[in-house]
Amino acid sequence: MAALQSVRGTKDLLPNQIQDWYFIESVFRKCAEQFGYTELRTPIFEYTEVFLRGVGDTTDIVGKEMYTFDDKSGNSLTLRPEMTAALVRSVIQNSLIQQSSPTKLWYFGPFFRYERPQKGRYRQFHQFGAECLNTEFPESDLETILLANRIIKSLGIAESNLQINSLGNETVRATYKEELKNYLKQHFDKLSEDSQRRLEGNPLRVIDSKDPRDIEISANAPKLKNYFDNESADHFGFVIKSLDDLGIAYTLKDNLVRGLDYYSHTVFEFQSSYLGSQDSFGGGGRYNKLFEELGGKKAPSVGFAFGVERLLLILEQQNLLNSPAPRLDFYVMTSNSKDLPLAISYTDRLIKMGKSANYDLHRKSFKSQLKDANRLNARYVLILGEDEIQNNQIAFKNMETGEQITIAQTDFEDQISKII
Ligand code: AMP
Repeated sequence: MAALQSVRGTKDLLPNQIQDWYFIESVFRKCAEQFGYTELRTPIFEYTEVFLRGVGDTTDIVGKEMYTFDDKSGNSLTLRPEMTAALVRSVIQNSLIQQSSPTKLWYFGPFFRYERPQKGRYRQFHQFGAECLNTEFPESDLETILLANRIIKSLGIAESNLQINSLGNETVRATYKEELKNYLKQHFDKLSEDSQRRLEGNPLRVIDSKDPRDIEISANAPKLKNYFDNESADHFGFVIKSLDDLGIAYTLKDNLVRGLDYYSHTVFEFQSSYLGSQDSFGGGGRYNKLFEELGGKKAPSVGFAFGVERLLLILEQQNLLNSPAPRLDFYVMTSNSKDLPLAISYTDRLIKMGKSANYDLHRKSFKSQLKDANRLNARYVLILGEDEIQNNQIAFKNMETGEQITIAQTDFEDQISKII
């Protein structure tokens, strides 16, 4: 029978890669905690409605990329394509918002999008993200960028580019969208098919299209920043000035709008030249109306997400992924498999001492056990040979130095603690 394969666009996370994931996860957790964020875990699937209302049906995510299915009761469910809508659903349901104080949450886990797989783009991928909820002021936009920046630095990523833009407040954006639509309609025939389709529902997307036809038309499109009122200008001005004050480099990018419907004011993305065509490894922005869209009270918020596989691609290219191979403290050997119960009992005592320890699971020869100990990168080997057992002793071999001594079986724990 032919061996089965994993689903296209999904990857197994193999034992020799797991240390890298532990490393990256520990940096996420540490940095998020430094900024006072706590973790939220939500289910992998939600009622489809959460994403229809929370992400918006003019987006690619909802329009083309969701894994949606009916369960046996006929409920329409969707594997989460992103976290923000699901997180807001959970925060409303569990009443996690407190009046006049922020709720700061981070998450890490798998997400699912039916996209065309390529390097850096998968159908199951992982995101780390952080959301600062119930805060309307630009200080919180800044804080999320600072957290993202701290993570990038703590991971050791040498080169990354923060691109930033402001979509202004809702009033400004509504006026601008009309102006933009009028302009784009004049050039309708020259736009890409995607942009022609998006023009009515999501005209902002047209100006961040990568299609050369759209880029040409967008170059002369009206600029959103020329429509800013005082509130929009002040909000963004604060973020930019603070980044300058803190010496954090950024690029202002007029046509950065991000795919989702719900953003206002600050939006940002992180790019790296190590990544090729999928060069964005994270992004985020402010969303002020999502809570109401999902049936909650008003709670303006801001957040971002990193794609973990893309962070790993960057680290790999910088040669920063050199996790040491896993090591075993002790391998407990016997010269005769009838003595295995004794080996098991010593292994058990080592485990209780907090050490890592294995015994032979294949009833192998003495020589093969020694090979196994080497394969497992064991620091020490304990040998229970015929002679040792008869004399109530154990041989202790240091695999690094090759030195071997014999110890008495009595006071085993004390002796081991003294030697190692
Ligand atoms: P988004 O939620 O689309 O803003 O994506 C945030 C980050 O998640 C991106 O910058 C990518 O790093 C990552 N990401 C999004 N979609 C995928 C995907 N299909 N495969 C791998 N990473 C992804």
